Amino acid sequence: MIRIVASFACAVIAAVVPLRAAEELQRDTIGTTAGNVEITFVGHGTLMLRWGGKTIHIDPWSTLPGFSTLPQADLILITHHHGDHLDSTAINFLRTGSTVMLLTAKCAERVSGGIVMKNGDVQKVMGLTVEAVPAYNLVHMRPDGTPFHPKGEGNGYVVTIGHTRIYIAGDTENTPEMEALRDIDVAFLPMNLPYTMTPEMVAEAAKAFKPRILYPYHFSQTDPGKLAPLLKETKGVEVRVRNMK
Ligand code: ZN
Ligand code: ZN
Repeated sequence: MIRIVASFACAVIAAVVPLRAAEELQRDTIGTTAGNVEITFVGHGTLMLRWGGKTIHIDPWSTLPGFSTLPQADLILITHHHGDHLDSTAINFLRTGSTVMLLTAKCAERVSGGIVMKNGDVQKVMGLTVEAVPAYNLVHMRPDGTPFHPKGEGNGYVVTIGHTRIYIAGDTENTPEMEALRDIDVAFLPMNLPYTMTPEMVAEAAKAFKPRILYPYHFSQTDPGKLAPLLKETKGVEVRVRNMK
């Protein structure tokens, strides 16, 4: 472990925080009509996609083990301004002079240089298409009755590469906008409570929009093993559980 860690530039941090090397993170490869997409499961709500020599980071969070071993970003997507999604330390670490960053208006108040996407906006960047899908609570509220994630503030993103559509939901419940999605090949749906969805809510969403591959993510203390039994009668949805606590 020491030998692996020592080979990276952040040896000072590595000496204090035990790091997992990037190659120890779980990865899946998804075939598209425009070449393979490699998904790296960094953890929590943080993902990295690599496609066509480009690196796309989603909600990079610098406190995750292995984070400092990840490559710099061509594109960064930020779903909302909560600290485990918008982390300026992570952004500054990943960003180069040519990195494109797509984010929400509230995020743009805290970090500069991004392109704001409102719910429903579409951006074409680096040969792929990014659509912003509303991400919000309908049921789970703070004690004062306001939603943890009010409608209009947060985005999920549908990233289309070739004909393959990858949906990263952000912090949300199973909204009508989510359930109206179609032709989703890969979906990441959050399951941390009380802020997002119960396994039952995730299953209800999956029955509505039928993602071909469903990854529960950002699940914290919720048991991701509860999801597959809820979908065992649902044809065409494959549940995959990875290290996304
Ligand atoms: Zn949040
Ligand atoms: Zn979150």
